[in-house]
Amino acid sequence: MEILLPNSSGYKTSISSYFFLNSRQSPKCIVAPTNAAEVSKIIKKLGVRENNQVAIRSGGHTPNRGFANTDSGVTLDLRGLNKIALQGPNDDVVSVGTGALWREVYATLDPINRTVVGARVASVGVGGFLTGGGLSFFSPKYGFGCDNVVNMEVVLANGAIVNANATSHPDLFRALKGGQGNFGIVTRFDLVTHVQSEYWGGAIQYPGSADAAQLAAFESFKAAPYDGFAEIEQTFVYFGALKAFSSTNNMFYTKSVVNASALKFFSDVQPQTANTMRISNTSAFAEEIEKFQPTDQFASYSTLSFRMAPGILPRIYKQWKDATTSLSAKVPNVTSVLTFQDIPPPPSANAPKNSFPFAPDSTPHKDNVLVLFSFYWSHKEESALVESTIKSVTGSVQELVGNKVGFKYLNYAAAWQDPIGSYGEEINKALARVARTYDPNRFFQRVVSGGFKLKV
Ligand SMILES: Cc1cc2nc3c(=O)[nH]c(=O)nc-3n(C[C@H](O)[C@H](O)[C@H](O)COP(=O)(O)OP(=O)(O)OC[C@H]3O[C@@H](n4cnc5c(N)ncnc54)[C@H](O)[C@@H]3O)c2cc1C
Repeated sequence: MEILLPNSSGYKTSISSYFFLNSRQSPKCIVAPTNAAEVSKIIKKLGVRENNQVAIRSGGHTPNRGFANTDSGVTLDLRGLNKIALQGPNDDVVSVGTGALWREVYATLDPINRTVVGARVASVGVGGFLTGGGLSFFSPKYGFGCDNVVNMEVVLANGAIVNANATSHPDLFRALKGGQGNFGIVTRFDLVTHVQSEYWGGAIQYPGSADAAQLAAFESFKAAPYDGFAEIEQTFVYFGALKAFSSTNNMFYTKSVVNASALKFFSDVQPQTANTMRISNTSAFAEEIEKFQPTDQFASYSTLSFRMAPGILPRIYKQWKDATTSLSAKVPNVTSVLTFQDIPPPPSANAPKNSFPFAPDSTPHKDNVLVLFSFYWSHKEESALVESTIKSVTGSVQELVGNKVGFKYLNYAAAWQDPIGSYGEEINKALARVARTYDPNRFFQRVVSGGFKLKV
């Protein structure tokens, strides 16, 4: 275990490894354990501290300032818990430390033709992604990433190390699938590996003149029969640096089928400015999307979801485009992105549950659409204006689509949103019971500063 003090090279490396500038804060010190026993020791020590002084991080990808880092306390940097080990006679489970990055997991699994339901961008961390849900290339078929976890090793507030799974602490197991940092620190995830050979995917880019055709394509995609092999993130982008709107589809058909008909709505849209669709593997696809991510920027995300209805997409798009156009007059280099994608299917009736509000017989993957607004900018002085714009456009789109599908995906939610509240009253009561059982002194509410807090 290392204790890193300001100005040491380890401290600087840890801070600069946060993906967004928002989170490159200055804790009093960083504690960097390498195994669960060390995490337990630290938690026992920190348990006696006063209010809100500890931040917990895995990959450090949250754009929410103060969620995985702190300016006034200690940051627990879990990146050293990064072991990856195949288990079982057929490598059908992989154990992954919370501090590993998805690119490392894919590098282990691609050569043996197996995969996991992990992030679509190579550098994303494991811990935040899986405890918040997890949207993957494979989610249309296998659900959220957390639904593919068979066991979590967890350090509780009293320092005890337990395993949470379908038979041991099943209430904690369920709570951690969507409830993130309210119950314990997950130090290791055991994930089902799925047999997977190379598949069709990549990105197609279009100029702004294709936006109307793109919106029509997404509407047709939603109206067509559901195909669990088809995964798409449709993004509309304003690049301040180019002063231009454009769009991109990152899309995947997770079988070795070129020009899959389920995605034809999008591959038919013209004109196209770039097209990388080919047969390849998860490592290559996740590295490709990584290359398009803005680096060394401030960022703000927000989210909502709605029930698909004819004509609704262009109305959402217009609200976003108008807000972006007026923001760009004041923040010329802003990058503003609107993304549409599916919500994954819920776990079946006989599978372990997650904390999300979708019953086994419901069909959110067919009926609903998940929206992500993501804005990126360069100067701290611009933060207030960009953040008020993203808040107001989220509010006006929410008004437009109504509250019928209240679900807010935690890993995309802004700090001012309440994703856990969006799971509904009954689930929140159950989560509060779990928190009281495993954390009676409210360590994760009181001492840990960041994250979406459950109302216990
Ligand atoms: C470039 C980029 C690409 C992305 N791509 C995807 C994607 O394809 N699919 C998707 O669903 N999401 C995606 N996201 C969102 C991503 O899932 C979240 O930002 C997620 O929190 C990242 O995990 P992390 O380990 O880096 O989290 P961190 O930023 O380290 O932490 C986020 C929160 O989780 C808590 N936390 C972290 N580890 C643990 C743990 N072990 N136990 C308990 N609490 C913990 C932290 O305290 C913090 O509050 C992306 C984000 C970025 C920036």
